[in-house]
Amino acid sequence: MAERMKPLICFRNIGALIQIRPGPPPRLAIRKGCALLVRDGRVEKVVADSKISTRDVSITVDLKGKAVIPGFVDCHTHLVYGGTRKDEMEQRLDGASYLEILQQGGGILSTVKATRRETEDALFESARRRMRRMMTLGTTAFEIKSGYGLDLKTEMKMLRVGRRLRESLNVPVILTYLGAHAIPKGETVDAYFQFVMDHLPEFLPLADGVDIFCERGVFSVDQMVGLFVRAKELGFRQLRAHVEELSHQGGAFQAARLGALSCDHLEYASAKEIRAMAKTGCTAVLMPGVTCFLGGEKLPPVGKMLEAGVNIALATDCNPGSCPSYNMQTVLNLALSLYRLPPDRALIAATHGAAKALGGEKDYGGLLPGQRADFAVLRTGDYRDLFYYFGDNFVAETWLAGKKIQPEKIPAAF
Ligand SMILES: [Zn+2]
Repeated sequence: MAERMKPLICFRNIGALIQIRPGPPPRLAIRKGCALLVRDGRVEKVVADSKISTRDVSITVDLKGKAVIPGFVDCHTHLVYGGTRKDEMEQRLDGASYLEILQQGGGILSTVKATRRETEDALFESARRRMRRMMTLGTTAFEIKSGYGLDLKTEMKMLRVGRRLRESLNVPVILTYLGAHAIPKGETVDAYFQFVMDHLPEFLPLADGVDIFCERGVFSVDQMVGLFVRAKELGFRQLRAHVEELSHQGGAFQAARLGALSCDHLEYASAKEIRAMAKTGCTAVLMPGVTCFLGGEKLPPVGKMLEAGVNIALATDCNPGSCPSYNMQTVLNLALSLYRLPPDRALIAATHGAAKALGGEKDYGGLLPGQRADFAVLRTGDYRDLFYYFGDNFVAETWLAGKKIQPEKIPAAF
């Protein structure tokens, strides 16, 4: 069918349409009394309500004065996993630290055990339920990591699940190979890291990029550099790293220097890392849900990052251990209360900023003409209600490429 023959959908009577202008710096553009015209799953243009030509429009959707925001982009998740880690919640309250639990074979390793045990179909079903729930809460693009296999079979199984999710849900999904997530029981760091390096080429057809957990007692900055250099040689398009989360290691500086798209966590980032990230355009992915759930006190230097012009993204880090939440609205609330990020900055970070962390900012995250028509219709006409009445769900409807998701068909995520 010729492009102009495809039906034009007109979303009219929008209370406030929020778009993100890419900048720099990116800015929120709020338009009132306008209509969003969508054709073939993409935004065609925005016109004043009074200027709609009914002759051209095939379908009209009256949004009754509600606000429309770009769908959230959850740019850091571990949402394919088996089991839960509810017991650790209580262990931590009794004083055990995250690293202590990991060293005793719990933490990531208990999820590894559960994920190895589950079939590909079972993992697909549970992750799909989770993602569908996330979509009804307003998320319309995802990053998904492997990292709960730490062996070839399970890491590949997780990435195949990710690919099936991408194909079946019609949402942008970036897949990341995180073999270097933890050290399997009974292995040394160096021997396991060598195993990851040796088998890296086998993951090229399955993943868009690679990631590594760079931390004291886990993988070193030198190992991260080795992994990134090799991944680039092989043709992986995206590099990202868990860095400066529990201690300062300087990994963010090296990751930025090597062209990483994002550095994630960054609680212990110093001025040197921040400067390098600003210079190379490496996104800082911040996950206040982890701080909240683990009861951490150390916060990333958000003010200094903003001052330096670092692109900031917000994500859930959805995973069974350090942040079981899958709700980006909660992340927005926490970004405001923990980081003191104003609503406009937080919303930019959860949409356009996060799209940049996935290299997808031209395609989604701003609701601009030519981009995917992925958006959330809020329950009210003011997007700040998302922050003000914290704890409620303010997403009334989610639209993906111009198609409404049917929440009544979506089960609970867990
Ligand atoms: Zn993570």
